[in-house]
Amino acid sequence: MNIASARLIDGKAYAAEIRQRVRSGVELLSEQGKKVSLTAVLVGGAEAARVYAANQAKTCSEVGIEYRLLELPGDTGQEELHRQLHRLAEDPLVTGIMLHLPLPSTLNAQQAQYAIDVIKDVEGVNPANIGHLLYGHPIISPCTASAAVGLIESTGVPLRGAEACVVGASRIAGRPISLLLTERGATVTLCHIDTHDVAAHCRRADILVVAVGKPGLISGRDIKPGAVIIDVGINRRADVDAEGNRIHRIVGDVDFDSAREVAGWITPVPGGVGPVTVAMLLSNTLRAARLAHGVDHVW
Ligand code: NAD
Repeated sequence: MNIASARLIDGKAYAAEIRQRVRSGVELLSEQGKKVSLTAVLVGGAEAARVYAANQAKTCSEVGIEYRLLELPGDTGQEELHRQLHRLAEDPLVTGIMLHLPLPSTLNAQQAQYAIDVIKDVEGVNPANIGHLLYGHPIISPCTASAAVGLIESTGVPLRGAEACVVGASRIAGRPISLLLTERGATVTLCHIDTHDVAAHCRRADILVVAVGKPGLISGRDIKPGAVIIDVGINRRADVDAEGNRIHRIVGDVDFDSAREVAGWITPVPGGVGPVTVAMLLSNTLRAARLAHGVDHVW
C-alpha cells in the first residue's frame, strides 16, 4: 500500500537561518559600537533553572549577544522584584530583559510581567505587547507565537483566505498565534477546553496549530487532507526502549504517525517549534536592542 506522507517542516534548519540573521544583525550593531545585552532574572533558581540559564548563555554568546543572569533569593518580595525590573529598564547597558518562570508561589508572575519594560521585553509577555499585537502593530511578539507562524510561512502555503484552527487558547501560545494568523488574513477558529467537538473544527482547517499539552489529542482522522500541521505541544511520555528499559520520550499533542499520512506539511516534536522558539528569543533580543539604540522604531 502506498501511503502518502506529509513533508516535514524542519524547525532546526529554520532556527539556524534565524540565528544566522541575528548574528549578522548583532555584528552590524557592534560595528557601530552598539551592544546587544540580555539580562535574565531568576528568582530562587532550582538546579534545573540554572542549567537552562547556562544553555541560554551559550546560545546567546554564539550569536554575539551578551548574557547576564540576575539571581534573586527565593524569598524576594513582589515589590523588590518590580524594583529590580525597573532598575534594569533604566539601565542603558541592558537592552533586553526576561523573567524566568515559574516564580516561587509567593510571587505573582502576571504582575511582574507588567513591570518588564515594553521595549526591552524580549519574550513579549508584558500585556502591553500582547495589546500591540491586537492592534496589528507588534513591538515584540511572544516567541512561541512567532515561531509557529514563521514555520507556517516557511512552507509557502498562503495564509490569506486560509481556514485556520488553533487548538489551545493560552495567553502565551494559542491566543497570540490566533492574532498573528488573523493579521495575515486567515479566518481563525480558536478552540479551548470548553469547545464542543474540537475535531470538527480541526477537520475544516487548511492550517492547524495545536498548543494544549495533551499527547495524542489530535490524530490523522481529525485532519483535513493536505493541511499544514504545527504541533506546539511538548510532553514527556513514559516509554520502553528496544532493550526493555523504561525511558521518557518528548512528544507533541499530535499523533505524528497517523497525522503524517493525511497532512501536507507537519512539524516533528522534538525538532519543530521548540528550536524556533529559542531562535525567536534571540531575534526579539536583537529587535529590542535596535529599538533601544534608536536604529529601529516602534511604528
Ligand atoms: P496552558 O495550559 O496555559 O493552556 C492550554 C490551553 O489548552 C488552554 O487554553 C485550554 O483551554 C486548552 N485545552 C486544554 N484541554 C483541551 C482540550 N481537550 N481541547 C481543546 N483545548 C484544550 O498551556 P501552554 O502554556 O499554552 O502550553 C501548551 C503546550 O505547548 C504545552 O505542551 C507546552 O509545553 C507547550 N509549549 C511549547 C512551547 C515551544 O516552544 N514549543 C512553548 C510554550 C508552550
